[in-house]
Amino acid sequence: MEKYTQKKRKNQLLQTLISKHVSKKTLERVKDCNTFLFMVADITMEKTKLHRSNNCEHRFCPVCAWKKARKNAMKISILMEYLKKEEQKEFLFLTLTAPNVPAGELNDEIKHYNNSFKRMMQRKEVKTAVKGYVRKLEVTYNKDRDDYHPHFHVILAADKHYFNNKRQYIKRDRWLELWQQSTKNPLITQVDIRRVKHTDNKKEVSEIAKYSAKDSDYLQDETVFDTFYKTLSGKRLIVYSGLFKDASTLYETKALDHYKDMDPTYYIYQIFYHWGKTDYIETERKLMNQDMLKEINQTLLDETDIEE
Ligand SMILES: [Zn+2]
Repeated sequence: MEKYTQKKRKNQLLQTLISKHVSKKTLERVKDCNTFLFMVADITMEKTKLHRSNNCEHRFCPVCAWKKARKNAMKISILMEYLKKEEQKEFLFLTLTAPNVPAGELNDEIKHYNNSFKRMMQRKEVKTAVKGYVRKLEVTYNKDRDDYHPHFHVILAADKHYFNNKRQYIKRDRWLELWQQSTKNPLITQVDIRRVKHTDNKKEVSEIAKYSAKDSDYLQDETVFDTFYKTLSGKRLIVYSGLFKDASTLYETKALDHYKDMDPTYYIYQIFYHWGKTDYIETERKLMNQDMLKEINQTLLDETDIEE
């Protein structure tokens, strides 16, 4: 509940910043977002789960963006599990950056990033090594310098023998050269490439799943919000390609549901909340009836925690 409260308070801040950009109808949806929560809880009241709520689904809504990120995190980790098992793939985590830009150049810089990335992926050696990827655009704001830092986080799928195969393996320095050439910017000094561990990939998965902009960044003030809003609206923020794209399609059609875990909690209570002015107020708590016990329990988990 604490997290919901925190995110809903930020949603209230969004309402004031977004009002001039959207229609009355959209603004109403944002205001109305998650004003009603239908939670379920186990006998101890310690394990709870959201069963239903009213969502605005707006890209900049802190509540909806957080929930979407949790769902994406589950999706990406299952795609990786599937590609490892069925396609014998290993994974690399690549971070591509360039020097920061002022607000006025951000939009062009993102276009330049997209084109540069495309150029890099079309290089023969990259095509030989990379069998698919999932890529996230992230933009952070630097308050001290008042500039913006767009960058890409990418999980790459490679063959199992990639690390030992001289024909496929690309060294870090070579990745840097490739990125410099693709961006036509020799001033770039860093590229981060690392192997993703199967036992612990939470950090990498979170980087791809989470929001393209932190709410603490874009809710800073009106000018900063306007820049984020104008730049990120209508853009594709997450891109699946190659084996990741095929696996994503399977996931969406529920063909990978057997990779999901069953929720181990047994829920017996239903609890209703309404949003007051600054907090959620519990309005009703009761035991579920038999039909509901059946509907709620023994279902698959479809979201997971993210590192923020
Ligand atoms: Zn929302």
